[in-house]
Amino acid sequence: MEGVSMSLEGSRMKEEDSYIANVFQRYPVELVRGKGAYVWDSNGKAYIDFMAGYGVALVGHCNDKVVDAVKRQAERLITCHCSCYNDTRLEFLRRLVSVAPKGLNKVFLCNSGAEACEAAIKIARKYTKRHGIVAAVNSFHGKTMGALSITYASKYREPFKPLLDGVNFVPYSNADRLEELLEQDSRERRSIGAVILEPIQGEGGINVPDDGYLARVRELCNKYDLLLILDEIQSGLGRTGMLWASEHWGVVPDVMCIAKGMAGGVPMGAVLARQEVMDALKVGEHSNTFGGNPLACAAAKATLDCIIEDDLVGNASRMGKYMKDGLLALKDKHKVVRDVRGLGLMLGVELRFDVRDVLMDGLSHGLMMLYSGRNVIRLLPPLVVDEDIASRALSILDRLLTREEERRGVV
Ligand SMILES: *Cc1c(COP(=O)(O)O)cnc(C)c1O
Repeated sequence: MEGVSMSLEGSRMKEEDSYIANVFQRYPVELVRGKGAYVWDSNGKAYIDFMAGYGVALVGHCNDKVVDAVKRQAERLITCHCSCYNDTRLEFLRRLVSVAPKGLNKVFLCNSGAEACEAAIKIARKYTKRHGIVAAVNSFHGKTMGALSITYASKYREPFKPLLDGVNFVPYSNADRLEELLEQDSRERRSIGAVILEPIQGEGGINVPDDGYLARVRELCNKYDLLLILDEIQSGLGRTGMLWASEHWGVVPDVMCIAKGMAGGVPMGAVLARQEVMDALKVGEHSNTFGGNPLACAAAKATLDCIIEDDLVGNASRMGKYMKDGLLALKDKHKVVRDVRGLGLMLGVELRFDVRDVLMDGLSHGLMMLYSGRNVIRLLPPLVVDEDIASRALSILDRLLTREEERRGVV
């Protein structure tokens, strides 16, 4: 905060802190505007935004198609509860189902990732009539009570116990351990109904599973008659260079959660499921007030159009490779870098030290990045990045890593 503490935006940040719940680790920047892969603060300083609101600015900030769709819808109809029909909602649903993994043709609309995971848990309980659920070590599915119950980090869980009963965590990317648990459950209690996984773990450190893993999980779910729920909230919609990350391994889930960037920055989440699975929920057994509102649907339809018509999936794949090659070169050059991993534009750079100083240093150099655990820098660039922006970000990161090595005395 040094240097800004006496400034006008410094005092505004202080005032915002005085009102808002003190639950966020905050960056000392006041953002006022965004376009594409850039955001600007109240001093007019530009940042390359590889934080992108935790990946929400998927199609770029203030994407023209999204802005236009929101403007037009806002003048026509903003609210329309799902107990009434709506033309914009129908257009969006038709588009979403047309690109969804095979067979996932029923959709529950909601407003966030956690809310999507809550719905998925209820769908699994109702459909399987079993309450047990298996999640992975280092998973993240949100912080509401149900979603928190399948989220791994004990610092999030401990203060809020008791959480949901019957949650088992197994090591990620280890199908043998999952099989042991399922085999034991099928012999003893038969209480497990579903397995929930992120195809690539985001908050847990950008962990890409071994190649055979998801396919084996799919087989195990078939064998033990369990639902496979994939949380594509961070990995979905083109981020990893495929529309759905599960496509990298040819796996189709029974239930899929999406949210984050799906409506170009307007809050929205969704659960997709096979018809007979979704139909386990009867009228009144789950609902919400805002889900499927026309404003979010218009934004989401425009977002999907962008992703597909502008080939942002292909761009994520190409630029992801470009970025990853660049990051691997930085790993060769800088001893502080321990590992580089990820797929497409969902990338992690693991350092030997806490990444906080690098992130803060990044701000002063005009590059916004995320952490993912203490030691991992997470990059979730908008899928509209080009080589120019990517190479600029890489050269800033190069400088940041040099400074970090100086600070830590690494040579
Ligand atoms: C962000 C995220 C969530 C939670 O979404 P919220 O909208 O913050 O509730 C759940 N799962 C994954 C994989 C996420 O990245």
